[in-house]
Amino acid sequence: MSDLKKSIKDRLRVEKGFIRKKWKDRLRVALVYPNTYWIGMSNLGFQILYQILNSRDEIVAERAFLPDPGLLDIGTVLTMESQSPLKRFHLIAFSISYENDYPNLLKILKISHIPLLSSERGSPYPLIMAGGVAVFINPEPIAPFIDLFYMGEAESRLNKLLDILIYNLTKKRIDKKELLKDISRELRCVYIPSLYNVYYGKDGCIKGMEPIELHLSNRVEVAKTAAEDFKITTSTICTPNTEFSNRTIVEMVRGCGWGCRFCVAGYIYRPPRRHPEDKLLEYIRETLKKRREVALLGASLSEIENLSLITHEILRQKGRFSISSIRIDSLTPELLEDILNAGQRTITVAPETGSERLRTAINKHLKDSQIFEGIERIATIGNISIKLYFMIGLPEETWEDLESIVTLIKKIRHHMIKRSKKRGTIGTIKCSINCFIPKPFTPLQWTPLEDVEILKQKQRWLKRALSKIGGVRVTFDVPKWAYIQALLSLGDRRVADILLRVIEDSLSWKDALRGSPINPDFFVYRERNLEEILPWDFLDHGIKKGFLIEEFRLYKVAKESPPCLPSKRCTRCGICSL
Ligand code: SF4
Repeated sequence: MSDLKKSIKDRLRVEKGFIRKKWKDRLRVALVYPNTYWIGMSNLGFQILYQILNSRDEIVAERAFLPDPGLLDIGTVLTMESQSPLKRFHLIAFSISYENDYPNLLKILKISHIPLLSSERGSPYPLIMAGGVAVFINPEPIAPFIDLFYMGEAESRLNKLLDILIYNLTKKRIDKKELLKDISRELRCVYIPSLYNVYYGKDGCIKGMEPIELHLSNRVEVAKTAAEDFKITTSTICTPNTEFSNRTIVEMVRGCGWGCRFCVAGYIYRPPRRHPEDKLLEYIRETLKKRREVALLGASLSEIENLSLITHEILRQKGRFSISSIRIDSLTPELLEDILNAGQRTITVAPETGSERLRTAINKHLKDSQIFEGIERIATIGNISIKLYFMIGLPEETWEDLESIVTLIKKIRHHMIKRSKKRGTIGTIKCSINCFIPKPFTPLQWTPLEDVEILKQKQRWLKRALSKIGGVRVTFDVPKWAYIQALLSLGDRRVADILLRVIEDSLSWKDALRGSPINPDFFVYRERNLEEILPWDFLDHGIKKGFLIEEFRLYKVAKESPPCLPSKRCTRCGICSL
């Protein structure tokens, strides 16, 4: 225990901006990121929640994380601010961005000596709530463990939920079941799994999902912040122990309008929302008065037309910046110059596929020629390394498509050499090649994961072929973990049994999968019928299913569709006509 406390105190010593409040009569919330401190504190969504919760005087919110590997055996999870065990809080709120963290959520409950199943937790255990991107695309694999889910963007309606929780958990103290029913009456964006029954057919597919209370609707709304209410958000806690190392994270844009058919961010955050440049400029100027370094964040920074206006200003103010991923065709010479002057030495480029045919199918809107032009612009500016992202295992992928990855990398290197010759030095090329995982609410949600053995074969082939190109470093993900990720991404409530066996019974994944009454291949390797009820269909993001079906059809014939350019008159995906 003292080792854990010491590690927490060491971290607090170098943090700036954390909030310490007296508990008094306040609602005590343990805000938990189900992964390590490093990963959790690099997550802007988690930091935004911390601000929203602590901005309420009636609430004291303290952070907690999965203990680092060496500290897991200590057998407890303590909050950062007061080093208190989770059991002492009224509410444990998990913020979950990745389905891979679902097992960690259970691990945290287990080492905190809190029963894993919601049905086995009454008073005096804390109420367990979850939110975050992973759950608002498919919460079902963890549904039996969670008392209530908040679905959607926190800025939208979380405060209304907090009003109810503050009143009931600190003053009224009503029974958990009664409280959950009350909440479900008040808010359509709260999902309470125990109030819904799921029915399955003989073929194992879902036949229906019905609420057990008359007042409940069949669908749960996913809360969104309207463009006019969308405020610029930043991280408020700075620490060297994150991905962003002491930089203030500024959210420049939310969502992405390109509509890549594999990427969930392009659908669940529609329409993309960006801030006017003058507002961003003003905000960043203010931020720089407090801290000299900022991280400009957004799924698609290319949504900001004149990004170099902002980067110039940061440098003019003697600040530094880093940028998250940006489309290669948006990298202007001015922006590249600024990136180099800011000290960033690696630029991430995501061709995703080697062949143009498959790139068109995923709706990437990026030709080989645009990639090469971008690479030449980068190499002309200076010694910048390139990190390339590719996927393998996309539906309809052929061996020729794999060969195209090798060809594309060779050509990229050739263009880099051509432009770096005069300088005599050249940046390195790092390639990250990952298995495609189908995601809910994307046009590829009906497709299966590629067979793990074939993925391994493809990786071996690529490794051999790429080893012949000098100056290129390649990393791959592990196909057996891609299988687990696909299971957690595409599974329904029955997957919770497998999770339970892994965490509660401490079984290996292999044994838990083998002993499962339902074959996990059913979720991972099965192409779904377009008419089938999908486990996440009850979530209402406002996107028409017909739109996703049409996009899936266009994928199959390798045709692009236009990007989303927010407009009140547009009715394509259904969101703006709500
Ligand atoms: S309705 Fe049109 S503008 Fe609105 S999010 Fe959908 S595609 Fe974009």
